[in-house]
Amino acid sequence: MGKASASIEHLYRVFTKPEGKDSKLAQIEEHLSDNLSDFLSQHVVTKAKSLEDIEKHFCDYQVPESPEFVSEHAEKLLDKLVAHSVNTYSPTFIGHMTSALPYFHLPLAKLLVGLNQNLVKIETSKAFTPLERQVLGMTHELVYGQSEVFYNQYLHSARQSLGAFCSGGTIANITALWVARNKALRAEGKFRGIAQQGLAAGLKHYGYQSLGILSSKRGHYSLSKAVDILGIGREQMLMIDCPTQRLSPEKALALGQEFQQQGNKLLAIVGIAGTTETGHIDPLDELADVAKELDCHFHVDAAWGGATLFSRQHRQKLKGIDRADSVTLDAHKQMYVPMGAGMVVFKDPGDSNAVRHHAQYILRAGSKDLGATTLEGSRNGMAMMVYASFNIFGRQGYELLIDHSIKKANIFAEMIEQHPNFELVTAPTLALLTYRIKPEFVVEPSEAENEILDRLTVIVQKQQREAGKSFVSRTRLAVEKYGSQIITVFRVVLANPLTTKQDLKNILQEQLDFAKKTKAWKELKAGRDLMVDDKKQSVG
Ligand SMILES: *Cc1c(COP(=O)(O)O)cnc(C)c1O
Repeated sequence: MGKASASIEHLYRVFTKPEGKDSKLAQIEEHLSDNLSDFLSQHVVTKAKSLEDIEKHFCDYQVPESPEFVSEHAEKLLDKLVAHSVNTYSPTFIGHMTSALPYFHLPLAKLLVGLNQNLVKIETSKAFTPLERQVLGMTHELVYGQSEVFYNQYLHSARQSLGAFCSGGTIANITALWVARNKALRAEGKFRGIAQQGLAAGLKHYGYQSLGILSSKRGHYSLSKAVDILGIGREQMLMIDCPTQRLSPEKALALGQEFQQQGNKLLAIVGIAGTTETGHIDPLDELADVAKELDCHFHVDAAWGGATLFSRQHRQKLKGIDRADSVTLDAHKQMYVPMGAGMVVFKDPGDSNAVRHHAQYILRAGSKDLGATTLEGSRNGMAMMVYASFNIFGRQGYELLIDHSIKKANIFAEMIEQHPNFELVTAPTLALLTYRIKPEFVVEPSEAENEILDRLTVIVQKQQREAGKSFVSRTRLAVEKYGSQIITVFRVVLANPLTTKQDLKNILQEQLDFAKKTKAWKELKAGRDLMVDDKKQSVG
């Protein structure tokens, strides 16, 4: 094989002709589509190198001067990149919301790239535009269940939109709060609205000191990003303590009233349907009442938990979600779609007009270009993946997946509770739970012991990750049981349908094996032994 040269012929070939069937890239492709999990276990090295070691592969800071053959490059990618990536398909990778995907997404992804449609405007997407609107409509129906007449009127309307498709929950949340902000500071009299005249003019016109948004402390960090870019300011992101992991409607009402009495305007209350850290669901129905009382927008962040609506058994946990003005859902979480599929749906299809933008060459007034009401510009046709999944699984298929995950989370919770050396910290509402190691000799840990247990959790979590067989994540939570002391816990998301009970047993065993060898464990043991001695002495 000669050296690739920067000739027109070479470049032409790169655009048009794949290298032969036996080329490296073709082999990769075949292996991927033939047996993905085999491909991953063969090429993704589980024993982790340190990030610093990996960085050494990525130190060139100039675009290479001369071209390279595709096959040579593919080889390089396997060695440098794929080998040191993370096998999110592994059934023992249970620390995050990212998991294995159904196999059909792989060929579909190829189709998606092959077509390379741009959903910002009809001129570059054609049928993908009505498809995306249909997906938004199906999601809207899942949440709000409006009538046939309603969907006939709005599904493909040029003047309204049932929602916005975007790259993820972060953009979905920002879009919802952007709508809330522009509605609160809308045009009135001589004031031409915040979108035209800006925040300062809006506050002045309406006589508000500041704007604010309220959620519980479990609110996702995307909310802080939202208040930052929307000009509201992070200090006006009012996050309420929630030792029970759910936002108290009474506290929300009290804080909202206090905030408004000081001359501010509360823009929105954000209820969470499935918190990222513990999977809890806020009391949405009561929060809808509070939002009504405070006359503010009610947004529900159901990025992770929204798919629960597919389950007849569990959907009532989200009671009141249909009273939200807007709802965020991530198809790339519990709907098993590849990353890059977020949605926000609006109860009132006219709401999207609060952020409508027009331009001369595209997004002309009256057109059905999706880009007129989305924050993002050029976007790919990910809606196709959601559409395919909705069809291939159907509501019933998703119901099975959701019910199965929640059941497994409960089985794991029971396993933890029955284990003398583990403590269940937050029980699963959905398929997410938190727990920690608590050696059986530590009964009712003191504050100081909790701090040692924190260290133990951190060390074990790191060692387990580095060993590379399995992965759980960790977080820090205030829990009621310990007088709101913040403790460190393992966090588990049971997203992968292929994770077995035996996998879960093995994960606990591995953690315990690591734990017993730590200094923290020995410290705890020594402390308890001393206490026993003290007791003996005082009795004697
Ligand atoms: C994941 C998540 C988000 C953010 O979504 P991205 O898709 O990562 O941008 C927001 N809120 C909640 C509750 C989430 O679980």
